[in-house]
Amino acid sequence: MVKIYLDPGHGGTDPGAVADGLQEKDLVLDIAHEINRLLRRYQGVDVRMSRTSDRTVRLQQRTDDANQWGADYFLSIHINAGGGTGYEDFIYNQLSSGSDTSAMRDVMHQSIVERIGMRNRGKKTANFHVLRASRMPALLTENGFIDHADDAVNMRDQTWIRQVAQGHVNGLVGLFQLEQRQQSEASEDEKTRTYQGNSIVDYLNAMGKDHSYQNRKKLAETHGITNYQGTAEQNLSLLNKLRDNNQSQQPVLSSDATGDLDTTSVVDYLKSMGEDASFAHRKDLAQQFGIANYRGTASQNTELLAKLRRQQ
Ligand SMILES: [Zn+2]
Repeated sequence: MVKIYLDPGHGGTDPGAVADGLQEKDLVLDIAHEINRLLRRYQGVDVRMSRTSDRTVRLQQRTDDANQWGADYFLSIHINAGGGTGYEDFIYNQLSSGSDTSAMRDVMHQSIVERIGMRNRGKKTANFHVLRASRMPALLTENGFIDHADDAVNMRDQTWIRQVAQGHVNGLVGLFQLEQRQQSEASEDEKTRTYQGNSIVDYLNAMGKDHSYQNRKKLAETHGITNYQGTAEQNLSLLNKLRDNNQSQQPVLSSDATGDLDTTSVVDYLKSMGEDASFAHRKDLAQQFGIANYRGTASQNTELLAKLRRQQ
């Protein structure tokens, strides 16, 4: 199983680059969700994300999480600012041009440049935390300049978001020789993927629908939620309305609020609840539930899962 760690930059209280109503944290989250969705068509690949919603995550938490998980590749996704235009990417500046990371970057760079439809600013190196502290080959992509008029036009276009994601995916497919799932397997997966958690983004994702901020705003309007700003309350209200609408085709399960009842994995359980399943968050939860010195061992995870279930 190839493990790909997707790291949408910034989030929560840190918007990253901002210009003219666009925020880096929203754009890179959209791109990362789309990469994740596209990767589901392939077998033998496991994806983990540093954040799946608009959440504050420290840089150290991101690399700790990827290291703990044992990722094979760390892919950090960003948008640039500061008066340039086009695409560029970075690897750690202490690596030689003969390193694996450098050779892998060549493949990613080529694939993304083919799709992004922007000026190519080249392959660069830097001493960024996520590149330095991740123990696996790591790449940081800067997908256009938010404060450049031409680049910003692209960023407002969902087709461009998809193309950028596809460029990243094409690179990963090449690097790790990923093979498409058989058609029947894929559709079986679709059918069984009835999302029960509380994240509107994950819900739309599971339904194979556009989960961008713009589309959620549109859906909110259609469902009578005025002045949508993506607050937690509005997202939950939108999720409930969409679920009500879908009731005829998609029965709402009575176990809605209790998460995945069958799983023996605390990570899958948290995910099914729309909760953060990162090591850092599990450590926090473990502490709250009196599990001392949490290191994510199997027995600690089993204990944590039992305690979380009992709380429901
Ligand atoms: Zn950034």
